[in-house]
Amino acid sequence: MALPLPPALSDTIVALSTPPGAGAIAMLRLSGPEAISLTDAVFAGKRLHAQPSHTLHFGTIRDGERILDEVVVSLFRGPHSYTREDVVEISCHGSDYIVQQLLALLTRHGARLAEAGEFTKRAFLHGAFDLAQAEAVADLIAADSALSHQVAMQQMRGGFSQELRELRGQLVKFAALLELELDFGEEDVEFADRTGLVALLQEIQTLVRRLLRSFELGNVIKNGVTTVIAGKPNAGKSTLLNALLNEERAIVSAIAGTTRDLIEDEVSIEGIRFRFVDTAGLRDTTDVVESIGVERTKKRVAQAAMLLYLFDITSTTPAEVQAEIEALNPGRQIPMLAVGNKRDVASDLEIAAFEPLPDTVLIAASRGDGLPDLQQALLRRVRGEGLDQLGSATIVTNLRHAQSLEKTNSALDSVLRGLAAGVGTELLAADLRHALAALGEITGEISSDDLLTSIFTQFCIGK
Ligand code: GDP
Repeated sequence: MALPLPPALSDTIVALSTPPGAGAIAMLRLSGPEAISLTDAVFAGKRLHAQPSHTLHFGTIRDGERILDEVVVSLFRGPHSYTREDVVEISCHGSDYIVQQLLALLTRHGARLAEAGEFTKRAFLHGAFDLAQAEAVADLIAADSALSHQVAMQQMRGGFSQELRELRGQLVKFAALLELELDFGEEDVEFADRTGLVALLQEIQTLVRRLLRSFELGNVIKNGVTTVIAGKPNAGKSTLLNALLNEERAIVSAIAGTTRDLIEDEVSIEGIRFRFVDTAGLRDTTDVVESIGVERTKKRVAQAAMLLYLFDITSTTPAEVQAEIEALNPGRQIPMLAVGNKRDVASDLEIAAFEPLPDTVLIAASRGDGLPDLQQALLRRVRGEGLDQLGSATIVTNLRHAQSLEKTNSALDSVLRGLAAGVGTELLAADLRHALAALGEITGEISSDDLLTSIFTQFCIGK
């Protein structure tokens, strides 16, 4: 017997699935039990309910006698559709007016306007994919670099949730055995092999920790690396910024609000987005060593993920550079590179003084000399070790996943500590339940309504 659908799934939803505005084509999507009959009611062409799945049909949409548009209708019968329900996609001409008229017509016939992310939420509720995969759909739509696309795609195709699900499944078996021990109460029985349990817990914890470490990197891929360029006036900061941006003119995007006096811009280097912030605006406050200049630059540096400290090779000594770096970035807490500029006019002696310093790159910004070296050095600073294994390695980009992984990690710690200390089954079972719950939150095996709502409302309408 088929289970009755939850109320949220019994109605038919409709939304514009392409961006609003004028375009060659706009696409409206309907999903739900009435998707086909509802379209039939307004579509003049073949009777859709008599047509097979995965077919296209040309016709007109009519509101009574009035023809609204010529359209192509795509038919997907559940469960062979994105949502696993009956889905109809109506491709019409890309006019806001037509789209509004169609939406009004379809809702008058009984469809309901979809909420943000509702199509994907339905796909999840029908078991088309797990929660982490659903979230990857949102990431995929937002992906704007080769790497963020690759990471989202991998997660959508199963990614780490599959690995986690398998390990969680094994852990569930142990938890069940522990619960069984509890049922036997007073009797001193051990069904769950403690050595095997420790090994499994450690295996899961290794994976969880690797995923947690990857979060930092995932964040970089998804959100870019904010990199502050600081240095004395005339060191060449603006020249360097322009050179970095010119390298990839095609994908440079100016951030709204900054006009000719460019202070912030983005560029993608080998798929990783860097957001360069030039502190040239501080130029007017004279010498950077002057307290107010230092304070303002320091503030910027503290908010950055990376610092490029630029200096003029011909007018600075290594000791001065060290002192200035120490003032801006005490203890080099923010990852940084020192960049010596104007190599083209520096003497061999001057170059020799800086060349051996660690994390230092010498360039001539005005001619673009040394820029590839600088880019590679930047990538190395960001990547650490993690990224080299990106090919198949799984990367966590989602804050919610990272938080659940943290919870899992500490719950696993408690179980392991308990096992080492030989605590009673009752405590072990409780800690294990916590770990299972935290793991389940990631893949959606355990999910509250609130959680689902907060996840899916981050989607755009029509997805
Ligand atoms: P900022 O004050 O740090 O932003 O420095 P600018 O980018 O305005 O450059 C200051 C001066 O240094 C300008 O006259 C640039 O043309 C010059 N400059 C910048 N980079 C180089 C370089 O690589 N070689 C030489 N010779 N001059 C440079």
